[in-house]
Amino acid sequence: MIDTLLIANRGEIACRIIRTARRLGIRTVAVYSDADAGALHVAMADEAVRIGAAPARDSYLRMDAILDAAARTGAQAIHPGYGFLSENAGFAEACAAAGLVFVGPPASAIRAMGGKSEAKALMETAGVPLVPGYHGEEQNSGVLAAEAARIGFPVLIKASAGGGGKGMKVATSAEDFHEQLASAKREAQAAFGNDRVLIEKYLGRPRHVEIQVFADSHGNCVYLFERDCSIQRRHQKVVEEAPAPNLPLDLRQEMGAAAVAAAKAIGYVGAGTVEFLLDPVETGGDGRFYFMEMNTRLQVEHPVTEYITGQDLVEWQLRVAAGGTLPLSQDQLAMNGHAIEVRLYAEDPDKGFLPQTGTLSHLRFPEAGPHIRVDTGVRQGDAISIHYDPMIAKLIVWDVDRPAAVRRLRQALAGTEVGGLAANIPFLASIAGHAAFLEADLDTRFIERYQADLL
Ligand code: ADP
Repeated sequence: MIDTLLIANRGEIACRIIRTARRLGIRTVAVYSDADAGALHVAMADEAVRIGAAPARDSYLRMDAILDAAARTGAQAIHPGYGFLSENAGFAEACAAAGLVFVGPPASAIRAMGGKSEAKALMETAGVPLVPGYHGEEQNSGVLAAEAARIGFPVLIKASAGGGGKGMKVATSAEDFHEQLASAKREAQAAFGNDRVLIEKYLGRPRHVEIQVFADSHGNCVYLFERDCSIQRRHQKVVEEAPAPNLPLDLRQEMGAAAVAAAKAIGYVGAGTVEFLLDPVETGGDGRFYFMEMNTRLQVEHPVTEYITGQDLVEWQLRVAAGGTLPLSQDQLAMNGHAIEVRLYAEDPDKGFLPQTGTLSHLRFPEAGPHIRVDTGVRQGDAISIHYDPMIAKLIVWDVDRPAAVRRLRQALAGTEVGGLAANIPFLASIAGHAAFLEADLDTRFIERYQADLL
């Protein structure tokens, strides 16, 4: 096993990783920027190293400073968390070159899934179903327009290098296409420095259902069931739950098998998530699922999977990174009950969800226990700065079935208070209390459809 682990991240995920490492008897090293000198993850770790100024590019994205911190503290392994360097193949290679274990997949697997277009081409070869579309290299606008017409409008134009919902535009007609294409390319160039796009058939009311996979370096690969992340705002997840409500068992197994095939096709090792769109018959779809992308890291929403499986995914990551085999086989994995996570953000729903910065002058979370888990990286008095994601906490609830879990969620939200800055608690409470949410009438346009009730 690893005896010293450096966590190349901050906030709730750094704290969450430290907690498991400590339970396993692993010494932890935190890194921090000037903005985070007094942060919770620094206080929790056994040792902490300053790596630079507040902007992420001067600290949490600095490979040299992080590798240097590992060398100075005798760490043998680096956990990248999510975001920052977690899906940077160059960083995985730099760790290996420095003789450090990168707690994540091989660089080649990160690269294989790094571009959406390339990933789709690979998945096509592996027999994983794709949304009808175009993901070729030819980027001439005439060719793209012809492909869009072939696919049939409406189509979705996506930045190949995209993430976080950026660089995505819907074109409803041939007339509209060129304008949306130009706008998607502009956004892609600005956000990712690359304007390559792909085109997909735009599904009307799809569900976002993703499969958690896990592979070890001995050829074993399993799936830990699915998460439904359909409740999104601007293509960003707001509520996540496991299992996906009303997912037929045969479809779950088929999706699980497809996700495992995807992971095996790229020689995957560690925790990964294969994201699919499900096009339900109930809302006019064909009842099939389609590959969107694979995230080659631990996801923000992993706790709902931990709740229903009773497993600690960070522990699995550390065991696999140390060369161990998967703790359980597919047959030994089972789901129990229902879990829901909401992302508590410092943002003002009354002002177009504008991110808020300032001091958390008051902070109260519900008491944690078997039914409620709070993953956070802040305490009362801490600041939410402009430099990082404005997430305050993740509230995760569990109960024996979905209706009971929804009741727990409302209770948890009622016990949550944030003072000093605006937060999205009332918005989350409106979702948790909405009749359509109780009925599990879920698709990616849920928030848009019920906006008038939710805001
Ligand atoms: P990103 O990497 O930017 O998050 P994704 O490709 O994962 O982008 O898509 C994000 C979200 O956009 C999905 O969860 C879904 O809500 C929506 N989406 C993606 N592709 C389609 C599609 N073909 N039709 C309809 N909605 C889509």
